[in-house]
Amino acid sequence: MDNVEKLTVVGAGYVGLSTAVALALLGREVRVLDTDAGRIEGLKRNQPPFYEPGLAESLVRASAKLSYTTDPAEAYADTELAIVAVGTPPTPAGHADLRYLYQALETLAQHPVSLVVIKSTVPVGTNHDAKKILGPGVALASNPEFLRQGQALSDTLYPDRILVGAEEEWVFGVLERLYRPLIEQSFEELPWLPRPKALREAIARGQRVPLVRTGLESAELAKYAANAFLATRISFINEIANVAEAVGADIEEVVRAIGLDPRIGPHFFKAGLGYGGSCFPKDTRALAYLAKRGGYDFKLLRAVIEVNQAQRYRLVEKAEAVLGRLSGQTITLLGLAFKPGTDDLREAPSLEIAEELLARGARVRATDPKALELARQVLDPRVELFADPLEALEDADAVLLVTEWPEYRALDWAQAKRRLRRPVVLDGRNALDPQAMEALGYVYQGIGRGRKR
Ligand code: NAD
Repeated sequence: MDNVEKLTVVGAGYVGLSTAVALALLGREVRVLDTDAGRIEGLKRNQPPFYEPGLAESLVRASAKLSYTTDPAEAYADTELAIVAVGTPPTPAGHADLRYLYQALETLAQHPVSLVVIKSTVPVGTNHDAKKILGPGVALASNPEFLRQGQALSDTLYPDRILVGAEEEWVFGVLERLYRPLIEQSFEELPWLPRPKALREAIARGQRVPLVRTGLESAELAKYAANAFLATRISFINEIANVAEAVGADIEEVVRAIGLDPRIGPHFFKAGLGYGGSCFPKDTRALAYLAKRGGYDFKLLRAVIEVNQAQRYRLVEKAEAVLGRLSGQTITLLGLAFKPGTDDLREAPSLEIAEELLARGARVRATDPKALELARQVLDPRVELFADPLEALEDADAVLLVTEWPEYRALDWAQAKRRLRRPVVLDGRNALDPQAMEALGYVYQGIGRGRKR
């Protein structure tokens, strides 16, 4: 297999669609196969199935190189390479549900594809098992994805590194050639998705995006290890924040002080309500399960998960402490998405917070710039939803800032105060300035911001 000009991407989710669009923008002909007919119909009209910055524009710009289908025969006709990016959601027991992956592989086995690249996050050993399904004539590569939702396309086009696990030299070669424009960043700047300055400068200095070659198992484990480590940083800093609260220190000052140590670094170190979304919760649980199945008790990771779970309820407890009781009180949630820049609500802390507030007898109002449509489908219908944040604040006894959308930082908090019944703001993401809020007459508490705040 020389230069891959045509390929098939299986699964049009965050990962699959970002990969397909990026490769199409780089000039490859990409067929996208998904079992969700509604999603494929929408994509044929260039409609993004979810919100991601730059996606709508990219679908249009790359449309000549992209095609969409639910029909495997059409998807695999004369393509030699398939990239599989179907979901691997958690089972109730906590391990990865591989049913979509196996379905995709069984379909693939019926078509003459010579290289299958698994991009989905899968437990160690899955690539090995996949080989048995695909049969002897098909080679496999593990190519885990590290993109972040909210900047999925940008991360795909401008990766920190590309990880490839494989067993044959030619397989590394094929993927190195496929990803060469990303490795060398040799494509023209896309005005709607600009290249990050640091990367532009690094490339100008002659650096390249590293392609890390490993065995199949190491690639599989590296993906879980990366997510488990990031989750550990979050739970660690949340624990320090809780200590800061207990002893009267300010976590934001602590983070600034320790983040300057290059061994520690300042990134992904934000105290708050803990991690959510479709990856960290599921991947930490899956790794703990994987370790256990291998006879190893991963104590640290179990604690990371436990700390994260407890952290979600910090604001509810704070609200109850400030208001005296929650029953009969009106509480407004600012933000529902699991993080800014996405409309994704999978494992978002907001869901459990809303449930807990309702269970304690509160009336719950909520707003989000992007996630309202999905919220209507998944939230308890008793939660009242508002597009306008000021309307959501009407007559509230406390405001809980759950997702740090820039809109909430920029909110006219003086005007907001006139809408509230009580000027109580509990900031679950330390997004607001405590002094400025107090100067406006708010009772303000963040996470880990000293004894009083
Ligand atoms: P997703 O839920 O957004 O999309 C999965 C897509 O696969 C859906 O459109 C679904 O209809 C489709 N699908 C399911 N079975 C199929 C089949 N047999 N054939 C064709 N299509 C099928 O998932 P996602 O968030 O893109 O995640 C995909 C994988 O990548 C997961 O393993 C995830 O852990 C991993 N990952 C996700 C992210 C992220 O930020 N979302 C980041 C890195 C890695």
